Amino acid sequence: MTHAFHRDFSRQAHGRYRRTRRRRGTRSRSLRRMRLWVLLSGVAGMLAVILTVGVSGTQSAKASVPHEEWLKPEIPVPVQRIMREPIRSGDTAITALERLGFAPAEAYRIANASKSAYALRDIRAGHFFKRVDQGEETHLYYTIDDQTRLHMFRQGKDWQANKEQRPSVTRRLFAQGRIEESLFEAAARAGLDSRTTMNLVDIFAWDIDFARDMRAGDSFRVLYDERYDEEGNLMGTRILAAEFVNQGHRYRAVLYVKTDGSSAYYTPEGKSMRKAYLRAPLKFTRISSRFTLRRKHPVLGFTRAHRGVDYAAPSGTPVRAVGDGRVVFIGWKGGYGRFIQIQHVNRDHSTAYAHLRRFARGLHRGSKVRQGQVIGYVGMSGLATGPHLHFEFRVRGAAVNPLTLKRTPSKPVPANEMASFRQQTAPWLARLDQPLLDVMAVAWE
Ligand SMILES: [Zn+2]
Repeated sequence: MTHAFHRDFSRQAHGRYRRTRRRRGTRSRSLRRMRLWVLLSGVAGMLAVILTVGVSGTQSAKASVPHEEWLKPEIPVPVQRIMREPIRSGDTAITALERLGFAPAEAYRIANASKSAYALRDIRAGHFFKRVDQGEETHLYYTIDDQTRLHMFRQGKDWQANKEQRPSVTRRLFAQGRIEESLFEAAARAGLDSRTTMNLVDIFAWDIDFARDMRAGDSFRVLYDERYDEEGNLMGTRILAAEFVNQGHRYRAVLYVKTDGSSAYYTPEGKSMRKAYLRAPLKFTRISSRFTLRRKHPVLGFTRAHRGVDYAAPSGTPVRAVGDGRVVFIGWKGGYGRFIQIQHVNRDHSTAYAHLRRFARGLHRGSKVRQGQVIGYVGMSGLATGPHLHFEFRVRGAAVNPLTLKRTPSKPVPANEMASFRQQTAPWLARLDQPLLDVMAVAWE
């Protein structure tokens, strides 16, 4: 129900973007259309006069429509002409500007005037110049990155330039889904961009093993923002609150922007989502997620005979360190094949990764690694019948079942910020429960 609602809304919103774009692009045509309309209403007005005269006396007041109202022209909109020009490989700013109709001398003046704000020597293929002509004014824009653009404009004969914030629109959305085939499929059906899906996976990466523990029937609910640029392209997404139900366990997270401006995800009670170890050593990807959900062959869990956890995954899937630490072994180790062992900050703890196809570049014995850092790639080196990762968690050298480890969260919300935390997060969490209340808030920034 809510799911369908969300899709309808997003279709509507897309329609709106498309409409605005079309309108912008055809301002000159619409002016012509307006003139035609004025002409036509003039003709209609004359006809009405003839009719009024012809039938006067026999008809009701209907005939005396105040037709001068029809003749009142719309307030003319200044004609705006917009041209976009993609930067091609091998382009200089000058060649791209020439395609936008600037004479070489003027193109040089523009490039010169921009120097202090942004060196147009650094323009990159795939980026755009946009030229906007409105009346006597000419504006030129170059998108530098997600946040900023270079704005050049003519004043008299001189050009001026400055860097400015790109205008954007933020849409607040709610989505929910139920996993049947894979998380990516369910998320796409719910209308989530893959960036939002990855964000969702990252938020719960300390609690849920997305590579092994996903089951059909798992579900999620997300309240999130999508940020669009002035052309209607998705620039980025941000999750405000999310829920994931994995094998009957409900996990919830909410974003909190601290008073110092930094932000992180917490449980609704203010505990950190972050913990010393990630639940899975495999980096979640679209391909590996499908593979493990549809696997036919059994994947070994921790038993007395098998002292690790096996992850079936396509060869080449990135393997990441589950926690901060230092590499204590990297190389070939008998049946383990290419093998890495990391000693963690708690020096009693270490993790081991076996059967790798190759190691990450630049990694050697003694290297410091950070949680989530890619250390190697899945393979089948050593004694392995197919590509998989054999993962061990060791306490004082003995392999243990990682599920039995106590997982203590990082620092909670500071006590003196709890009031502010509750105030900020309560409305978002409420929307997870009542998604239909006031879901779409569109804010101009
Ligand atoms: Zn194994």
